[in-house]
Amino acid sequence: MTHAYDYDLFVIGAGSGGVRASRIASSHGAKVAVAEEYRVGGTCVIRGCVPKKLFVYASSFAEEFEDAEGFGWTVGERSFSWEKLIANKDKEIDRLNGIYIRNLQNSKVEIFQSRAYLKDAHTVHLVAEGRDVTADKILIATGGTPFKPVIPGIEFAITSNEAFHLKTLPKRGIVVGGGYIAVEFAGIFNGLGVETSLLYRGEKILRGFDEDLRDALTDELPKKGLDLRVKSDIVSIVRKGANLVATLTDGSVIEAGFIMYATGRAPNVVGLGLDAVGVKLNAKGAVAVDPYSQTNVPNIYAVGDVTDRAALTPIAIREGQAFAETVFNNNPIAVDHSIIATAVFSQPELGTIGLSEADARAKYGELDIYKTSFRAMKHTMTGRQEKTFMKLVVDTASQRVLGVHLMGPSSGEIIQAIAIAVTMGATKKQFDQAVAVHPTAAEELVTLKEKWRPAAE
Ligand code: FAD
Ligand code: NDP
Repeated sequence: MTHAYDYDLFVIGAGSGGVRASRIASSHGAKVAVAEEYRVGGTCVIRGCVPKKLFVYASSFAEEFEDAEGFGWTVGERSFSWEKLIANKDKEIDRLNGIYIRNLQNSKVEIFQSRAYLKDAHTVHLVAEGRDVTADKILIATGGTPFKPVIPGIEFAITSNEAFHLKTLPKRGIVVGGGYIAVEFAGIFNGLGVETSLLYRGEKILRGFDEDLRDALTDELPKKGLDLRVKSDIVSIVRKGANLVATLTDGSVIEAGFIMYATGRAPNVVGLGLDAVGVKLNAKGAVAVDPYSQTNVPNIYAVGDVTDRAALTPIAIREGQAFAETVFNNNPIAVDHSIIATAVFSQPELGTIGLSEADARAKYGELDIYKTSFRAMKHTMTGRQEKTFMKLVVDTASQRVLGVHLMGPSSGEIIQAIAIAVTMGATKKQFDQAVAVHPTAAEELVTLKEKWRPAAE
């Protein structure tokens, strides 16, 4: 390792990717420092996956109380305190933040609580310290930031960042968008008793997911009382006392206590000094990298959301690990982004891995499709009309399972286990060789016999 610089590696951003890269590089003997402008742990821990999932748990109790009655329970008077939820959530996030800091310190990574930007290919300026430091290698791991479209009154709208810190929970709310964050937060607010409208500009939420899965969730959301409006968008927002009034594309108006935009996230590249150093961005405005996360400036690398390859925590972590192995352990690793399992913590939850039917058809041609939609056993007693949906996309020629798409309780948990088989290239026959676990919903995945045929056939 060279010691002509202050550090062997300087990491900008202590989120999922930056923390992993720092710790692994340090374990291979590199002298490492990381700068974080907000809180160590990054989006996932501080204002993403973790507090979001805690909110999902919180919001699911209302239905649980109702469902309990079908099983003979009488649940007494219920009340919910948003303030208590926020306080408990904040306590847990503080605990995790502390663990992340300690893990870095135990790994001998120096932490700078400061915004940082590049001055040249080996020099980083630390804004809070008002000084420069130098490094042989620099890793950009600055993540992403919520994007809001420009419309009159957009300054009144919040994003997921602020949703985690609302002082009170209004009676009525609007969520704009049709991606992960929009459907997750619409479900959270709805479950917590907020009269919630989810406005999506397109025809069907969750573009890019399997069509049947999109349809299945579209059918379920209104059953839970969510006001789902497609082909709908806001043209302007005005303040009215404590409330906001949104005028929609169809001329209708909704008055609400908050309007949350979940309209995508932009890579965090502004003010990083990338222009000055000549680091190239791609067409999406993300830092352009090769399969080893190297930018066009040879000593500068980038991982995670700032590269916009797949904006998921486990991917940022993998990219951080692969970078550190490649550069500091002479062990070149390129992360495979071609097959990624993911869950959407909507209500009901989605789990998916591999290709959608449409993508599989475009790539492989003839397919065998297996799908089932049923009422989960629990709901035979609750009276709830909620459906569980499961689909296998199988390549006819090789019989390999190319995609699995699930909607229903614990779909995230189920897809994680199924991901092992799909990633290994399991065939439909190998799925069927697994003995069913009875009575479960997931047993359907190993007992699907009938190929699905369009009604006309
Ligand atoms: P980040 O975790 O965003 O870390 C980047 C860090 O860099 C931040 O802490 C930031 O403050 C810091 N930073 C930025 N610029 C500078 C600078 N100039 N100087 C110093 N510091 C800087 N993914 C999942 O897999 N599952 C989920 O359930 C999930 N839920 C999500 C829910 C929400 C509401 C959001 C917003 C995201 C969610 N994600 C989820 C996505 C996940 O959070 C990101 O993919 C992940 O955090 C990316 O990690 P990263 O290291 O690239 O960036
Ligand atoms: P997404 O890209 O998933 O969705 C953005 C949504 O906003 C789309 O429905 C898009 O519509 C819509 N949109 C974009 N621009 C506009 C506009 N100008 N006006 C109206 N609507 C607009 O982004 P999210 O913000 O939901 O999440 C960012 C990423 O974070 C996700 O893609 C995911 O990778 C990650 N994440 C993962 C989670 C998980 O793993 N469970 C949870 C939360 C986030 P259209 O489809 O028409 O383009």
